[in-house]
Amino acid sequence: MEWSPVVTLADPAPPVIQSGKLARIASRYDVTKIGARGIGGGVNFYSLEKEQLLGKQMAKEIENQSRLITDPVITEYVNRIGQQLVRHSDARVPFTIKVVDSDEINAFALPGGYFYVNSGLILAAENEAELAGVMAHEIAHVAARHATKNATKSQIWNLVSLPMIFVGGPAGMILRQVAGVAVPMTFLKFSRDAEKEADLLGLEYQYAAGYDPAALVNFFEKLEVKDKKHGFIAKAFATHPMNHDRIKRAQQEIETMLPPRDEYVVSTSEFDEVKARLAQFLARKPVVIEPGGNKPILRRPENRD
Ligand code: ZN
Repeated sequence: MEWSPVVTLADPAPPVIQSGKLARIASRYDVTKIGARGIGGGVNFYSLEKEQLLGKQMAKEIENQSRLITDPVITEYVNRIGQQLVRHSDARVPFTIKVVDSDEINAFALPGGYFYVNSGLILAAENEAELAGVMAHEIAHVAARHATKNATKSQIWNLVSLPMIFVGGPAGMILRQVAGVAVPMTFLKFSRDAEKEADLLGLEYQYAAGYDPAALVNFFEKLEVKDKKHGFIAKAFATHPMNHDRIKRAQQEIETMLPPRDEYVVSTSEFDEVKARLAQFLARKPVVIEPGGNKPILRRPENRD
């Protein structure tokens, strides 16, 4: 037997173990440990129960002020997509998911898992993964408890800015007073860091549920083009627009944090059916007479706002 030298190519250098900040991010947001990595921990004056109670009160107000879509085919579908994402998330509260009749391309989740998806979002999405992408981002805010952490932070600021003489009293009393002042919707204005975290967590939940994680970025890139052409506004990200940096960061996160898969769900025929049904449902809605005024409000397409 002829001896032949075994040529081994030098192994590519082992990946440098990321150090410092990157390593902390990689381990804190390890996608294989969803649900068991302490997302949502940290300083928070609200217990989960209190958070749910707060969300329930806010939900009541929201529902007093908005029209819900109750068609069972539509609501069951949207709820199913949402619950599937929740099951692949770090959320520790059950979710109540409803569809709101509103043209705004938006979805929002209140603390405690009260989640509203606008009809405008469903109609603007081109596939199920795009819809799921926006929903996953909102679920991430709830999972990370951004709203109550936000409120906690502002209460701490309120406390430290109080003259020392008042801080002497029972702390619980001060807290209760400050808590009573909180304006619900300011709860949902998040810091840049909170938005960054929700972007990453949302991508992970979407990926973990089997969807193409790039769908959200694609969706907003498309909306941006439409926005310029047709004046569309994506309210979901109005305070935190999908700018170049954000898109780039999301793409990097997809590449570095999410192990590649052979297949992703992009859409289903059910999505197309529900979207068509919703469009039909909204188009044939009866004319609404505003209480007090006699003016009929015509629904789209005649009088879109
Ligand atoms: Zn957000």
